[in-house]
Amino acid sequence: MPHSKLLQQLSASPVLGVSMASVSLLRLDRLGGLAPGNKAFKLKINLEVAREQAVSRLVTFGGAWSNHLHALAAAGQENGFQTVGIVRGERPPQPSAMLRDAERWGMQLVYVPRSEYALRNDPVYLERLTRQFGPCHIIPEGGANTAGVRGCMDIVNYLPPETLGGGKMVLAVGTGTTLAGLVAGSGNGREVIGISVLKGARGLERDIECALEPFAQRDFAPWHICHDFHCGGYARVSPELREFIEEFERIHGIPLDPVYTGKMLFAIYSRLRDNRWHGPITAIHTGGLQGRRGFPWLATADRL
Ligand SMILES: *Cc1c(COP(=O)(O)O)cnc(C)c1O
Repeated sequence: MPHSKLLQQLSASPVLGVSMASVSLLRLDRLGGLAPGNKAFKLKINLEVAREQAVSRLVTFGGAWSNHLHALAAAGQENGFQTVGIVRGERPPQPSAMLRDAERWGMQLVYVPRSEYALRNDPVYLERLTRQFGPCHIIPEGGANTAGVRGCMDIVNYLPPETLGGGKMVLAVGTGTTLAGLVAGSGNGREVIGISVLKGARGLERDIECALEPFAQRDFAPWHICHDFHCGGYARVSPELREFIEEFERIHGIPLDPVYTGKMLFAIYSRLRDNRWHGPITAIHTGGLQGRRGFPWLATADRL
């Protein structure tokens, strides 16, 4: 698909009384492949690292609806790697649709108690995993490593050059890896605004500064994090968020997920409604649509 086709300007039809015509959406959810979205970008260079190290097994971590586990299982299936997913908590009697996809794509799922999952960044524990699974490349939860940032720098290449000049670029933020890639990749032109989907994500700004350190020789775009739109916390949905998502999808016919992209567009809608943001806005649709299946109230909208 030509890159420019991924950028979609929203129509002037109002959503809950607000026109979002100043917003263009970069539809990374439409890139193709088994699991499109920002997670595929975070994994790309990680796959190269594994190839260089001549290891054929990739190991990572996530919960029962993790977009990152889903994307790694997809990348393993598409690129001929064995994959291992360390899953937080016990195997549910009815595994989630995400876990069923991952298994179908050949991922070995290893369920661990929360106390063990808490060790996921501990070097001693990672040594133990390497002994257990043999030569492997271990990727942190959420794909949050330097290779992940580097991979996300490529997202900028999917934007027409004229959109890099001015205005705001807005995206949902979990670990901040994708935001760091955009900041390091887009030069000092436009402002990058991250909408945190976690409540009280203390230390997020510091984490992003650390993620940017290896790229310090580049020009960085100015950036900041907005903490006002977690809507109750990670994967929580407030009545206002639900109403917004249902209306946005009805008006624009673009599917959102309630965990990330729904909150990001709800933030843009709120700022436009309150006359606090003006001018062109490029919003990054980071994908994650598989997660819709975890929200029964969205099931009927799956034909979008
Ligand atoms: C993981 C994810 C994000 C957040 O990415 P980070 O790099 O962790 O900040 C945003 N949107 C979607 C759909 C995601 O799956």
